[in-house]
Amino acid sequence: MKILVTGGTGYIGSHTIVDLIENGFEVVSADNFHNSRPSALDGIEAITGVRVKNYNIDLADRKATLELFDKEKFDGAIHFAAYKLVGESVGKPLEYYRNNTNSLLNVIEGLRRQGSSNLVFSSSCSVYGNADELPVTEATPRKVAESPYALTKQMGEDMITDYCKAMPDFKAILLRYFNPAGAHESAKIGEDPSNPATSLVPVITGVAAGKRDKMTVFGTDYDTRDGSCVRDYIHVQDLAHAHTLALQYLLAGKGNANPELFNLGIGEGLTVLEAINAFEKVSGVKLNYELGPRRAGDVVAVYADRSRATNELGWEPSRGVEEIMSTAWAWEQSL
Ligand code: UDP
Repeated sequence: MKILVTGGTGYIGSHTIVDLIENGFEVVSADNFHNSRPSALDGIEAITGVRVKNYNIDLADRKATLELFDKEKFDGAIHFAAYKLVGESVGKPLEYYRNNTNSLLNVIEGLRRQGSSNLVFSSSCSVYGNADELPVTEATPRKVAESPYALTKQMGEDMITDYCKAMPDFKAILLRYFNPAGAHESAKIGEDPSNPATSLVPVITGVAAGKRDKMTVFGTDYDTRDGSCVRDYIHVQDLAHAHTLALQYLLAGKGNANPELFNLGIGEGLTVLEAINAFEKVSGVKLNYELGPRRAGDVVAVYADRSRATNELGWEPSRGVEEIMSTAWAWEQSL
């Protein structure tokens, strides 16, 4: 079974390639290193012994993308490739709409032209916004998107849903990620450090490693158990494995809805201060942080009901916050 992984050298893409290879899939990557590095291919090879072929193409370029589908025949695709910075998307909305929608359209068209199907799409819990009920299930209504980035995820979900309606033999799964964190246990792949980190765990490890002086806890007056925001942190290897299970599910012809929709979180909420404490405990490093004002656009709390993914896909995330922190710290120290 040959699978196209777009964004294959990115953070979640690279971990998913490892998991796919370990489960017997042949993988081809398409990535133009917009927000990643070719060295991820070395990391994948060091872990799996397999040198993955990567096509350095812009997937928003229809001609280049369709040429790839002329060269390689796929049994399915996992589409990660996208611009992903919430703050940047506010300043560059057209770039986000152009890139994130065109690349998805081109990948669907490419699969379709070769008579293939089985698309797994990276979506995000950001579609739930400040949900009225917690934990959120897949039936929890989506809220108006808070940013162009979040809207591209909603649009991607809708584009796939409409296409599946029009072409019922085209099968797809939408995966809504909560907060992916941590790194591969080998410390050979992890989150690309070339951009200044904005996500909580790389900010924490960056401060601990002395790359920055201190960090700020954004908001301590929320209506939560200690006043800081609550998130559902999911170890990237557990998240990666869910993609393998999702593909196997599609390939086995399972599922009634098309597209099927799954939340991918551990199912537990952790506050920012609890995350910091967990890091200090695991690493033995005292973190230099200050309590600061709220960050614009943050939701108060979000965590998943993951029972659908567990019941339908057989997905059982096995790593908790300690593994997240220890692997993120090992990766940071390897850089
Ligand atoms: N956060 C923080 N300080 C930082 C970075 C993040 O307090 O330097 C908080 C942020 O306000 C949010 C949580 O950590 O409550 C997770 O933020 P992240 O950007 O990792 O993910 P998000 O859920 O916002 O996509």
